[in-house]
Amino acid sequence: MSFETKEKDLLARIGRLKTKSGTVETPLLFPVINPNIQPVSPRKLQEDFGLEAVITNAYILKNRFQNKPAEKGLHSFLDFDRVIMTDSGAYQILVYGDVEVSPAEIIEYQERIGSDIATILDIPTGWKVPREQAEKTVAETLQRAKDFFKIKTREDILWVGPVQGGRHLDLVAKSAVEMGKLPFQVHALGSPTEVMESYRFDVLVDMIMTAKMNLPIERPLHLFGAGHPIMFSLAVALGCDLFDSAAYALYARENRYMTENGTWRLSELDYFPCQCPKCASETPKEVVQKTPKERETFLAEHNLHVCVAELKRIKQAIRDGRLWEHLEMRAHAHPTLLTAVKKLENYGDFIEKYSPTAKKSGLFFFNSVGLARPEIIHYRHRMLERYCPPEDAKILLLMPQTRSKPFRKAHEFKKVKQVLQRLDKALSGYIHVCFYAAPFGLIPLELDEVYPLSQHETALPLDKETIEYVANQVADYIKRTRYETILLLHDSQQWNDSVKKACRKTCREKGMRFEHVNIKAEGTKNILTRLEMILKKNLSE
Ligand SMILES: [Zn+2]
Repeated sequence: MSFETKEKDLLARIGRLKTKSGTVETPLLFPVINPNIQPVSPRKLQEDFGLEAVITNAYILKNRFQNKPAEKGLHSFLDFDRVIMTDSGAYQILVYGDVEVSPAEIIEYQERIGSDIATILDIPTGWKVPREQAEKTVAETLQRAKDFFKIKTREDILWVGPVQGGRHLDLVAKSAVEMGKLPFQVHALGSPTEVMESYRFDVLVDMIMTAKMNLPIERPLHLFGAGHPIMFSLAVALGCDLFDSAAYALYARENRYMTENGTWRLSELDYFPCQCPKCASETPKEVVQKTPKERETFLAEHNLHVCVAELKRIKQAIRDGRLWEHLEMRAHAHPTLLTAVKKLENYGDFIEKYSPTAKKSGLFFFNSVGLARPEIIHYRHRMLERYCPPEDAKILLLMPQTRSKPFRKAHEFKKVKQVLQRLDKALSGYIHVCFYAAPFGLIPLELDEVYPLSQHETALPLDKETIEYVANQVADYIKRTRYETILLLHDSQQWNDSVKKACRKTCREKGMRFEHVNIKAEGTKNILTRLEMILKKNLSE
C-alpha cells in the first residue's frame, strides 16, 4: 500500500503517501511549475517554503525540451529533490481541443523522465457539454486507462486514474466505479477548473462526492485545478487528499493578492492582511511601484505562503476534530461556499460512516447548517437502532435543554428531581425523564453525560429549522415507544410551539395522553405543584 491514513475528520484525512522520492504527508499541495515562466524557483519552493511536492506538465516538457529532462532526470532538470507529479496534457486538450501526442507516447515519456506520480492522457469532459459528448469522454478515458496497463513498464511510479463525467453525475459515478476496478494507486477528479472559476462550489460538492462514493475509499484522491485557499477546507473535508495550484502564479501575473477569505487587487489594498515574510517587510504602495517582474514574484510568493498556511490550519483542525468549525468559518467568505456547505446535508449518511464521532473536544453549533454534522447524524442513528426506554416507564417527562450541562447537574433539573423524590418511591420508577435539546433532539437523562451530548455549545436563540429538527426527533421518538402519558414542560420563549404541536399530534395518533405545563407563564413554585399534581393523577389511574 502506498497510502496510509493517520488521522481523520469528516472525509478528510492526514495520510502518508509513499513515492520513490520519499514519503509525504497529505493533504498535500502541488504548486504548478511551468518551466517556461516560473516566478518562484523549485529550489526555493523546497528550501524556503518547505514544500515537498510540485507538479509539472509532461506534455509541455516534451514539446519544449524533448529529451533533456530524460537525460538529466526530471528531478535535476527542475532542481527539486522531493516528489514530482506530472500531468499529461489533458488540460491542453480541454483548452485547445487536441494535443499532438499519443496516449502511449506520453506514458512512455513520463516513465523515461522519472516522474514520481504520473497521469495517463485522459479526455477531460469540460463544463457545459452535452451528455452525448460527456459519455464519449468517459468511455475514451476508460479505454485509455485499460490500455495503459498493457503499456507501462515501470513499477515504482504511482499512476493516476482520472475520473471524468463533468456535471453529469451518473457518468461521474460510472467512471469512478470502472476506474476503481483498475489497479491505480491514485485517482483524480477531472475537469473541475471551470466549475470553480464560475464559483459553482455546489456543483463541485456533487462531483467530488459522487466520485468519492464510487471509488475505493482507501486510495488518495487528487483534485485538479483547485488552486485557491478559500476552498481548500471544503475539498479536504470531502476527502480530496492532493491538490495542484497554478493560481498562485496566474493571480500574481494579474496583480491579484490571495487571502484565505478571497482575492484582492493589489491596487485596492491599503494594508496587507498578512504577516508572511513578504508582506511583513513592505506596504502595498511600495509593491505597486516595483517593476512588473518584481511585483509578480512578490505576489506569487505571498500567494504561496497563504496556501501553505491555510493547509496547515486545516491539518491542525483535522487533528483537533474541528474541521467542521473551520469549514463553516470559511463558508462565510462567500455565499456560494455556504451554498456548497449546505449541500453536505445530502451526503450526511456517507460522511458519518467514515468520520470519527468521538473527539477530543466539544463541538460548536451555530445554526441549522450544522445539522449535517456526522456527530448529530450518528446520534440519530444510534437512538433509532439501539435505544430502548426503561421497561416500566409509563410517563415520559420532557424537559427543555438547560443552559448548563450535563442536564442532571443543572438547577432546573434539581428542582424537578425534588418533586420526583417526593412521590412514592414505587411510583417514581414509572417516570422517565428526557430532554429536548438542540442540536441532538431527544436526550434521555441517563445518556446526558455520553459524548458529545454535554460537550457542545449552541448559539441562541435557535433558528426555525433547528427547532423543527428537534421537534421531529421528539415526535419520531414518541412514535417508537409505548408510554401512556407524555408530559411536556413547555418553554414557549425559546422553542415556539413546534415541540408542543409535534407532541400533541403524535399523542393523538398513538392514543397517548398529552399534558403540558407552560414554564414561562407560571412561577417555579406553581410549576412544580402543577407537575406534582399531573404526575400523581396519571400514576393513580
Ligand atoms: Zn503575505
